Amino acid sequence: MTIAPQRARTVSDTGHGLISPHGGDLVDRTGERPDDLERLELLTLTSRELSDLDMLAAGALSPLEGFMGRDDYVRVVEEMRLANGLPWALPVCVAVDVAPGGDRVALADQSGHPLAVLEVEEAFEYDKELEAAQCFRTTDEAHPGVARLYGQKPVYLAGRVTVFERAQVPFPDLALDPADTRAEFARRGWKRIVGFQTRNPIHRAHEYLTKTALETVDGLLIHPLVGDTKSDDVPAATRVECYRVLVDGYYPAARVVVSAFPAAMRYAGPREAIWHAICRKNYGCSHFIVGRDHAGVGDYYGSYDAQLIFDEFEPHELDIEPMFFEHAVYCKVCEAMVSPKTCPHGGDDHVFLSGTKVREMLGRGELPPAEFSRPEVAQVLIEAYSS
Ligand SMILES: [Zn+2]
Repeated sequence: MTIAPQRARTVSDTGHGLISPHGGDLVDRTGERPDDLERLELLTLTSRELSDLDMLAAGALSPLEGFMGRDDYVRVVEEMRLANGLPWALPVCVAVDVAPGGDRVALADQSGHPLAVLEVEEAFEYDKELEAAQCFRTTDEAHPGVARLYGQKPVYLAGRVTVFERAQVPFPDLALDPADTRAEFARRGWKRIVGFQTRNPIHRAHEYLTKTALETVDGLLIHPLVGDTKSDDVPAATRVECYRVLVDGYYPAARVVVSAFPAAMRYAGPREAIWHAICRKNYGCSHFIVGRDHAGVGDYYGSYDAQLIFDEFEPHELDIEPMFFEHAVYCKVCEAMVSPKTCPHGGDDHVFLSGTKVREMLGRGELPPAEFSRPEVAQVLIEAYSS
C-alpha cells in the first residue's frame, strides 16, 4: 500500500484549517516598554505611519516586522515582491528628515506620546516620482496618495519595531487583531471566510456582492477601513453605524463578523487591492471580494485594473482567492439584484442612482428607493447629513 504524500499546508499556528498568514507565521511585534525610553530620540509619525505601526504590531502586515529596508522597498516598488520573493504590493515605510544618531528611536503619536521603539537598521533616500509612477501609476500631485507621498520627508528609516502601547482606536468593540479574528473564525468552525473591504456605506449592490460570496463560503468578514480617508468620504463613525443596522436587519448573525480594518487609505487602486487582500489573509480570510474600481480615486485607474492585477501573480501564489464582481443593480424585470453578467436588461429596467444623486436625496432627507438602499441605512445617512 502506498500512502500519498500530504500536500504541505502549514496550519501550525492556527491548527483549525484556516489559511496560513502571509509568509507562514503571524507576526507579533508588541512588547515591553524599554527602561531607557526617555533617553531615545523621539520621532513623531504621520497618521498613515501610525496606522502602519499598529498593523505591524498586530501582525496585519505579516511577515513584516518593521518598516521596510532598501532591498525590500526597491523590489516592492519595481516588482511587487519583498526581497525574498514573497508578493507584496506597497511600501510600508517611515519618512524622516535625516538619519538619527542612535541605533534605536522612539516612535510617537501626533501628540508626542511614545508608543514604540524602532531598531534602526538602515536609512536611505528614495525617489518619490519613481515610487509614485510605480505604485500609483501616476505622478500627478492631484492624486491624494501621490500628494501625500510628495509631502513626505526625504529619507526612509528602516528597522524592526516593538510596540509597547497600542494606538487609541476609534471603535474599541470592533478592534479585532488578526489573532482575534482567527480565534473567532476557529470558534465558529469556519475554514473558508470571505473578506469585504469597504470605505463606503453598504447599499443593496454591496449587500448583494457580500451575500453572493457568502453563499459559497463559511463566513463573511465585513472589514470597514477606519484609518485616514479623504475628507469627502463618509466619516467612519457614520459608516460603522450603517454596518450595524444593516447586519442587524439583513444578515444572519452567525455568519458575519464585523470588525475594523485600521489601515489608512492610500488610493493606489490595483496595487492596494493586492495589499488589502494580503492583509485580509493575515486576518484569516481565504477569499477576498474585489469589485470594480477597488481602492481607486478619480479616473486614474481602469474599472477592472484592480482585478486584472491579480493575474500578475502565479495561481495560488497569494493563496487568498480574489472574488471578482461587477457593479450590481436591482432589475425590475428580473425582480432581483443583478449585474451585466446575469441580466440582459438595462436602461429604465435598472434602478440606478449616481453617488451624487444619492447624496442629494439624503441631504434633502429623502429615502432613496428601497431597491437601492435599505431604509435603515438611508436613515442613518440622513441623520448624519442633517447634523
Ligand atoms: Zn434583468
